[in-house]
Amino acid sequence: MTPRSESRGSRMFCWICYLAVAALSAVAALRSESAAAAEAKGPPNIVFIFSDDHAYQAIGAYGSAINQTPNLDRIAKEGMLFKNCYVTNSICGPSRAVILTGKYSHLNGFPTNGAFERFDGAQQTFPKLLKAAGYQTAIVGKWHLVSDPTGFDYWHILPGQGAYYNPPMIDNGKQVKHTGYTTEIITDLSLQWLEGRDKTKPFLLMCQHKAPHRSWEPAIKYLNKYDEVTIPEPDTLFDDYSGRGKAEHTQDMTIEKTMTEQDLKLVFPKTLNAEQEKAWHAAYDAENEAFRKANLQGADLVRWKYQRYIKDYLRCIDSVDESVGRVLDYLDKNGLAENTIVVYAADQGFYLGEHGWFDKRWFYEQSVKTPFLVRWPAKIKPGQVSEAMVANLDFPETFLDTAGVSVPGDMQGRSLLPILQGTTPPDWRTTFYYHYYEYPGPHSVRRHYGVIDSRYKLMNFYEPDVAEWEMFDLQADPKELKSVYSDPSYAKERARLEAELARLRAELKVPEQDPPQTLRKPGQKGPGQKGQGPKAKRKAPQA
Ligand code: CA
Repeated sequence: MTPRSESRGSRMFCWICYLAVAALSAVAALRSESAAAAEAKGPPNIVFIFSDDHAYQAIGAYGSAINQTPNLDRIAKEGMLFKNCYVTNSICGPSRAVILTGKYSHLNGFPTNGAFERFDGAQQTFPKLLKAAGYQTAIVGKWHLVSDPTGFDYWHILPGQGAYYNPPMIDNGKQVKHTGYTTEIITDLSLQWLEGRDKTKPFLLMCQHKAPHRSWEPAIKYLNKYDEVTIPEPDTLFDDYSGRGKAEHTQDMTIEKTMTEQDLKLVFPKTLNAEQEKAWHAAYDAENEAFRKANLQGADLVRWKYQRYIKDYLRCIDSVDESVGRVLDYLDKNGLAENTIVVYAADQGFYLGEHGWFDKRWFYEQSVKTPFLVRWPAKIKPGQVSEAMVANLDFPETFLDTAGVSVPGDMQGRSLLPILQGTTPPDWRTTFYYHYYEYPGPHSVRRHYGVIDSRYKLMNFYEPDVAEWEMFDLQADPKELKSVYSDPSYAKERARLEAELARLRAELKVPEQDPPQTLRKPGQKGPGQKGQGPKAKRKAPQA
């Protein structure tokens, strides 16, 4: 029917519909505004959505050139994006221990993912302090700290690294087995807990994904996404490490040499059931056969591996982004959005082919910086971008401060509440200390520490056989390709940074000798392992 042929009756009907919808919308808006106003008076709820190894280079709001993340971007659009969020030690378990305690690795007892680490759950953590202040607390998903979680009313975690498909999990100490895709299962369990919680109390929910950790196993629904496109390569994919030292030349984390057949989906994970495996065969077999026939060599082979890797990585992120959307929708639909702090962060950054690498660990930009987005409509204006130098070390102080709980003096970070509300304090940090310990270990990245300010980075590889300093001018060399440590024109800045490094090490109480957990010999067995439910299979977590 064209508009011209509409009868008078149908036009009138449309007007009545329009007025009715407008009236209902107005009532709904009034109701949600008053509910939100009432709710915003109490302490805020906290939803901490945490992923594993999600590079900021793969988030739309951070300017990704390779994928879209509409739901993550929504947090940034409706809240604050932090451009400079650092981690103190760029690896999975240690980052989690820092976030729980607000203390550097040398003080929280979890410096590496090695065989000797068990997070000491008897120590002070922010979930315990929130729980004592009347919060209901829950953690769902990847925990990765070996001992059982403490300070949570509800914990439902993956043992160790966890599986992408059909994951065994531990539900408050009891082993359970789920069927399906882990990112979706973690989201379902998180929403179920929200729905069944005690609605008279504020809550802390830590929703912690395994994705997009190695070996990047996508959900069936995304297995064919990106099939028709070629993802742009980073321009340092074929880095030869000239201009840098021994540590860069002896690492074992290149796409070229380190990736396994399982990483590349040339063999499939053993956790798939028959139906899932069928879908994987349908998605990968033809490409794998073509790859084997082509017998690629040299740069062509690296390029093929990069495409396979990055597409699977982005497919895993598609599920994480979808999960974020489901959580935001739940908060909206239940009148919780206004006074709930929603945080999205990863445990560290990740290399998406920069320097030829995958993985993390280094004090270089892509691994030391992590995505950090915060939405809290009651206090944060939409669309804010902060350049302040912040860290995972600041997360617990921030959560405690926003909840009105006093921040213990022995935590080493600082509450971000003023920054979230639009004012960076004049005495905010302008330098940051980093320390990585896991050598010997997977990927053979040597121990190092260093300091960064708004322009320069100074780092010390201190093990005797590779002892070497590096310094980078991030303004002149943002891709960190040439150390200027020995360049006399940087002598003044170098001396300033050396003094600042010494000051930070003293202030942060960094011991001269590395923490005892890191000083065992390779192959030496760890202590008896308990926790995470009866008969749980225990092994040292990998990165
Ligand atoms: Ca990680």
